[in-house]
Amino acid sequence: MSAHIIVIGAGLGGLTAALALRHFGFSVALYEQAPTLGEVGAGLTLSRGGQSVFRALDVQDALAPHATPSTGFPFLHYQTGRLLAGELNHGAGLPDDGTVDIARQCHRADLHAVLAGAFAERALGALHLDHQLIAVEETAHGIRAVFANGETALGDALVAADGVRSAVRPLLWGEDSPRFTGQVAYRFLVGRDTALPYLGFGRGAVFLGPQRTFNRYTLRSGAILNCVGIAATDQWTGEGWATPATRDEMLAEFAGWHPDVTGLMAHSDQAIKWGLFDRAPLPLWSRGRATLLGDAAHAMLPFLGMGAAMAIEDAMILARAFAAEQAVEAGFARYETARHGRTELVHAKSVEQGQLTQARDPDTYDAAAAPASDRAILDYDPVTTPI
Ligand SMILES: Cc1cc2nc3c(=O)[nH]c(=O)nc-3n(C[C@H](O)[C@H](O)[C@H](O)COP(=O)(O)OP(=O)(O)OC[C@H]3O[C@@H](n4cnc5c(N)ncnc54)[C@H](O)[C@@H]3O)c2cc1C
Repeated sequence: MSAHIIVIGAGLGGLTAALALRHFGFSVALYEQAPTLGEVGAGLTLSRGGQSVFRALDVQDALAPHATPSTGFPFLHYQTGRLLAGELNHGAGLPDDGTVDIARQCHRADLHAVLAGAFAERALGALHLDHQLIAVEETAHGIRAVFANGETALGDALVAADGVRSAVRPLLWGEDSPRFTGQVAYRFLVGRDTALPYLGFGRGAVFLGPQRTFNRYTLRSGAILNCVGIAATDQWTGEGWATPATRDEMLAEFAGWHPDVTGLMAHSDQAIKWGLFDRAPLPLWSRGRATLLGDAAHAMLPFLGMGAAMAIEDAMILARAFAAEQAVEAGFARYETARHGRTELVHAKSVEQGQLTQARDPDTYDAAAAPASDRAILDYDPVTTPI
């Protein structure tokens, strides 16, 4: 099959899918609604399986200088800082060469730039910015994407990697809005020198408290500290990734927490907040010549740090399924069969991990029983797993 595949959304899932499909010899055109690919987001976890994909696609070497080994990640009591699980890591957070099979952390913008750079180098300009998809139409022998700017694109198949607010998902399967999960995330970055007095527990740590967590780790060779507080709440009205948050509201949400948490909040600048939304797992993702990938199919809570990993895994499995079947509908069927169980498991375990880390009494946290220690979740390799 010398199929031409339209990918919608140049986020982490869409870019990885485009690279993986090209890796297996398919022709790809990538369409993104944003007019430019800019510096957005902050820290995220690079799972072992995700990095296995990057090695297979020959981008891990370019990523390694931007990534920090995520070793010894400790869980601490929100008031006393007592070690509940894991080990302290007093290292400087310097990158390694990326070859050892461990989880790492990096800035979303750095990963995005590496993937976009690889695609630009290899795909001969098939990335179309400022193309917001508004409709999908099946034709006699293919599928047509219709964009808000009046342009259209024809392909043999369409892969929608258009995120938690996917335009394609309701077009295929009817309206179902993303669900507010009752959690709000507050995020800010702090420079190395300002953060130093609050890093007595080392470069990375998660503080656990009743209905709250605070996670912070260094990025970019220790130059910045990525801070994320997550708080349970019963209401949220905001949209997107850029609603400003004030120091006072974060300090009120985390009143009584360890001074290493509140001290960082007191030094925050340009903090943002966003409501955490997920997507109910769908029984089917593909319809005709279109399918869903990443958050569009299965957006999940961030307590396992596996949201980006699931999109990256989807991308590799989709490309392998197409290569194995050499036919659109059979390729989609093989992709879904390989991915439903895995994504539903990680979706459910992310909820469970959140309940454990936000328990009323943090002293009950049992690391051995937590999904964050579950080998079945952590050891999955989308490059080698049989499909
Ligand atoms: C701006 C932004 C900032 C983020 N920051 C963080 C962060 O700091 N930490 C973290 O862990 N996760 C962050 N995420 C989420 C994380 O990237 C995703 O949860 C995960 O990577 C899954 O990737 P995805 O490709 O499915 O979706 P996304 O990475 O969300 O990508 C979806 C892409 O589709 C595009 N798109 C949407 N609708 C259309 C349309 N109709 N037509 C064309 N294109 C469309 C979007 O502009 C986006 O580029 C962020 C996502 C975005 C979009």
